[in-house]
Formats: sequence, C-alpha cells, structure tokens
Amino acid sequence: MKALEVILGKVEDDVAKVLEKNPPVEDVDPDDLDADGLPDAQNESWFRIDELVVVFADLQNSTQLGTGKHAASTAAIYRAATGNAVQVMHEFEANFIQIQGDGAFGLFWGRRALERAMCAGITVKTFSEKALVPKLKSRWDGDPDTGFKVGMGSGRVLVKNVGTPRNENEQEPIWAGKPVNYAAKAAQQATRHQLIVTGSVWDAIKNNDYLTVSCGHGTSGGSGPSGLWEDVEITKLTHDTDEAKGRLLKTCWCDSCGPGFAAAILRGETDRDDAGPVRAAATAFSSRLFEEAARRREERTLARKRGLSVRKR
Ligand SMILES: [Zn+2]
Repeated sequence: MKALEVILGKVEDDVAKVLEKNPPVEDVDPDDLDADGLPDAQNESWFRIDELVVVFADLQNSTQLGTGKHAASTAAIYRAATGNAVQVMHEFEANFIQIQGDGAFGLFWGRRALERAMCAGITVKTFSEKALVPKLKSRWDGDPDTGFKVGMGSGRVLVKNVGTPRNENEQEPIWAGKPVNYAAKAAQQATRHQLIVTGSVWDAIKNNDYLTVSCGHGTSGGSGPSGLWEDVEITKLTHDTDEAKGRLLKTCWCDSCGPGFAAAILRGETDRDDAGPVRAAATAFSSRLFEEAARRREERTLARKRGLSVRKR
C-alpha cells in the first residue's frame, strides 16, 4: 500500500487533469449500444443515449431485516426477493441490470424499451404481492412488512465505465443523468406493491389502453373497465416540478387477462375496443396542475426533437 500523501496527491492530480477539459461525448444509436461492450475506464469518451427507461425495485423495510438471530431468514428473504426481481427484469430483456443494496434496477433501451420496462415493473410488483409476500408471511409471522415498491423514470443519459483503469473487477458503468436517480426517488416514495412513474414515463404510456384501463375483473360489482392510475406528486423531485407530477398504479396483472395484455403490449399494441369511454373520462378527471405539467413536458420534448434533427443535419 502506498503512503497516504501519495494516494491523496495522485487523486488530486487526476481531478485537476479531468476537470481541465470537458470529456468527448458521442451520440449512439440505442440499438448499437451493448452494456458489456463499453470501453475500458481509461477511455475518456462518454456515450449519450437519448431515451432510456429505468425500472427501480426497492425492498420495503429491509433495514429492519436483522443479521443477528434472524440472519438465516434475512438471507433467505434477500435471495427470494432480490434474486427474483432481477430474474423478472432479465426475462423482459433488460439491457443492463444492477443490484443496489437490497433492490435492483433494470435499464431498457432500443426496440420496445418502454413496453419491456413497463411489463417488467408491473411483473415485479405482481410477483411481490401475489407470490413473495404471502410465502414470507406463512414462514415468518411477525417479521417486518416487506415487499417491492417500484419506481420508473426515463430520459437521456451519459454512460461510461468508471473505476480502476485496466482492472475490470473494479469498474462499473455510470449512468449519469436524471432517469436512474428519478426512478430511485419514485420507488422510495411508493409503499410496497405500488408503482410510481415520473411525468415523462406517464406521457409515453398514457394513450396505451393495455396499461391505463383495467380489464374490469376483480372490481366490486363488476362495473367494467376503469382508469388505473392516480396523480401523485413525487416529493423528492420538487426541484423538477413537471417530472414530479407523476402517476401511481396500485393494481397488479389480472390472473386471467395479464398474460394477454403483456403480450399485446410487447407487440406494440395500444388500442382496446372496450376502453374508449374510460380513456375519455380519465383525461377529463386528471387535475389541472397535472395537465399543465404534461403540456410543458410535451413542448420541451418537441423542442428537443427539433434540436436533435438540427444536430443530425
Ligand atoms: Zn382480467
């Protein structure tokens, strides 16, 4: 090991060198980006992806899971919970998955990124509510209430491997930008078995009947399809007023309709014959502040797209 003054001197020199000039940034086509193929950390270039969707799964009350006399059950909960949340993201072909603490996040880009991410997010909460928690309850009565809460965000990121140059084991990609951070904040705000999406994710799904209108099963009185999401202010994002105007989903996949809905979503379908009246009513019911935020986000997206087409010319 080197002497302390040598270690401090080395990182100080590096900071000065890195901050002296801005690093090169390359725009990449999402379909060409492979997380396993990112250059070594010694390479200075960052890659920019314009649209990436994040699913963040966070385990509620995990800080109360002890490693003392309950060590074995804590270990089993982690394996059963985190292991399978990762498995779900893998099945929906997440382009990158990282375990973080007791939870995990999946990143989706390229073809059908939004659709794969939405299906993964809803499936994690369905798994948690219908399989994980009932099994935990039957084995460890009295343990803290746990279960996955899910947050989603989307937008532009810069990525590059950071860490010890030429040492793969000490490198990880950094996904700089709002999406991962915002998805984590959305997940923190949720309680178990809720899914909270940021404003921009909502904009992208709000016209998809398979995601926004229920199948009608399981409602008391069998009143038919209804709107599934409610307005939610993501309080840890109030510095970004429009993104903070998110939406909250409490329901899971329906046992009978879920498989068909998920398959339709993944094929890119958006319209259901039985959803029309509900869709119209849902828009009318959204509060004025949330509608205004949506309009500002739309204007910004259009402006950004115009900027992009200028840049590409
Ligand atoms: Zn159903």
